[in-house]
Amino acid sequence: MENIILTGDRPTGRLHLGHLVGSLSQRVQLQNSGQFDQIFIEIADAQATTDNSGNIQKVKDNVIEVALDYLSCGIDPSKSTIFLQSEVPELSDLTFYYMNLVTLARLQRNPTVKQEITYRGFDNSIPVGFLTYPISQAADITAFNANIVPVGDDQLPMIEQTREIVRTFNRLYGETLVEPQAVLPQNVVCQRLPGTDGQAKMSKSIGNCIYLADSPEEVRKKVMSMYTDPNHLKVSDPGDTKDNPVFIYLSAFAKDEHFAEYFMNKETGKLEYKNLEELKAHYERGGLGDMKVKKFLNFVIEDTLAPIRARRHYYEQHIPEVYQILFDGSDKARKIAAETLQRVKRAIGLDYRNDIELINDQCIKYGSEPITYSSDSEKKIR
Ligand code: ATP
Ligand code: MG
Repeated sequence: MENIILTGDRPTGRLHLGHLVGSLSQRVQLQNSGQFDQIFIEIADAQATTDNSGNIQKVKDNVIEVALDYLSCGIDPSKSTIFLQSEVPELSDLTFYYMNLVTLARLQRNPTVKQEITYRGFDNSIPVGFLTYPISQAADITAFNANIVPVGDDQLPMIEQTREIVRTFNRLYGETLVEPQAVLPQNVVCQRLPGTDGQAKMSKSIGNCIYLADSPEEVRKKVMSMYTDPNHLKVSDPGDTKDNPVFIYLSAFAKDEHFAEYFMNKETGKLEYKNLEELKAHYERGGLGDMKVKKFLNFVIEDTLAPIRARRHYYEQHIPEVYQILFDGSDKARKIAAETLQRVKRAIGLDYRNDIELINDQCIKYGSEPITYSSDSEKKIR
């Protein structure tokens, strides 16, 4: 079996640090590992319309933002196929057939969708398309025969839904679809990076994000006003590092090299803190102020974002090239999705043009002359 990756993002805003640690870094690493036969990266613009039907402009504008973010993080279009979901209409056909394999109750139980419905204040006015988006994700994944899906942990219920659809489909219609596996980042804090406001997830739709494209000044402001431990009022107070996003971000981004560079006392030649464990221990016992930790975090994030910003600057000067990458990727993706759709329709039995047996059964039933299997007869019925 080939090793195929599919991942994607909704173009509902620029990508943020949560995307970087939750999915993007892993994609780049997998892309460059050479262990994968194909990598597909979808900009899920059609899915983004499910909760933005009155604001398509927002979706359209963010397609280029997401594409710029991909390229600036090191997604290489010669190794990975970046495509637009709306350019691959076969995905809607697949979704349509998969819809019959899932119950409404099952969709309503999906914990991520439930939480997103609350965030968006949909209450009793949930767009049907929104509720069914886990099914369209199953179409996205299976269309490309992907076996690996690198995601943040909010996506686990979606991958589980896809696996169920695959199993039901294969049971009903024979082995046709590939059952995928989610791959989470190894570092637990990266599986769901919290927001700068301390909420459980940094999310474009909540707006509690540090974006990859933020300027150094914007990053500094956001870091300096980040939520920390609300009980750590005086520097001398003992502080909590577990539910404190400043320390969570440091666990995600800080390397020992950062400590060596930032905390070196030039006069004594000694390191104030060698690593995150030492910094945490000081904060926990008291005597370490939030400002000092935040300044260090700002340094670490800047070190992470500076090369990304530089690459983004290049692509911002070459926008037509970026659109061309999307169109070429979409053409390639469409061919593969069309093959899968044909396979799926054949498995279901909705493949009239190639179903000579069906045509002949009807011929016999009505007394027509049956057709033969020669290529001429095929031409005749096309
Ligand atoms: P939206 O609020 O519009 O849903 P989002 O910020 O959740 O946007 P998505 O496009 O839905 O972003 O997610 C794309 C990918 O990034 C998914 O694999 C998701 O798990 C991952 N991801 C998003 N936010 C985070 C986060 N805070 N931490 C880790 N991974 C994340
Ligand atoms: Mg999301």
